Amino acid sequence: MTRRPLTLLITAGPTREPIDPVRFLSNYSTGVLGHLLVAEARRRGHHIVFVTGPTGYPPPRGAKTIAVETALQMQAALEREFPAVDGVIMAAAVADFRPIRALPQKIKRSGVAGGLKLWRLDLVENPDLVAGLAARRTRQVIVGFALETTRALANARAKLRNKQLDAIVLTQMNGRRAPFGETTVDGAIVQRGGAARPFRRLAKPALARRILDTVEKLAAQRAAK
Ligand code: C5P
Repeated sequence: MTRRPLTLLITAGPTREPIDPVRFLSNYSTGVLGHLLVAEARRRGHHIVFVTGPTGYPPPRGAKTIAVETALQMQAALEREFPAVDGVIMAAAVADFRPIRALPQKIKRSGVAGGLKLWRLDLVENPDLVAGLAARRTRQVIVGFALETTRALANARAKLRNKQLDAIVLTQMNGRRAPFGETTVDGAIVQRGGAARPFRRLAKPALARRILDTVEKLAAQRAAK
């Protein structure tokens, strides 16, 4: 098959939601899969816009990279870039909540010794970034992710539908290990209206190849319409 070069928006890493000038809420995402997706997509001749939260990796070679911290910054970057791309692979672990406001000064301990001291942190929900893009897509193929601990396939299918994605990559706890970092993963790629293609103990570079196979196939189908 001759490949048509696509322009792909790939996201990676966690977001950080500031609590005060020295603290944030975040998650365990490392960004490794996003980087592998960029490398594989480059090998296949695609053009990449890479929007990344903070990770330990340097910016990948050969991609337009936009570094962000918060979910709202990621949203702004995605909305800017989205109209010009053929597809989105939303591998970022966007924080679902953020503190209602970041305090301007470092929060202090109360300094009272003994006893149980409770702090309250009020959170608001972040917008669902990928659902927002999907709602105003023109030609774009949109692939999201679902990290599930219970009722995995049913939850992944519900997310596929609710977020109006073309495909979703389900990853599950592998034994007691969460699928973060350079590990193997269990899960499935589920397409809208299609069967789930399950995988077990799959290394992330192989997962990146399967995801890109899916995106290329969906983009070719769309172009043929
Ligand atoms: O709903 P959940 O967080 O499990 O969905 C995961 C998928 O949705 C991922 O592709 C993630 O990048 C995306 N997401 C998003 N905006 C959020 C939360 C998740 O785009 N606020």
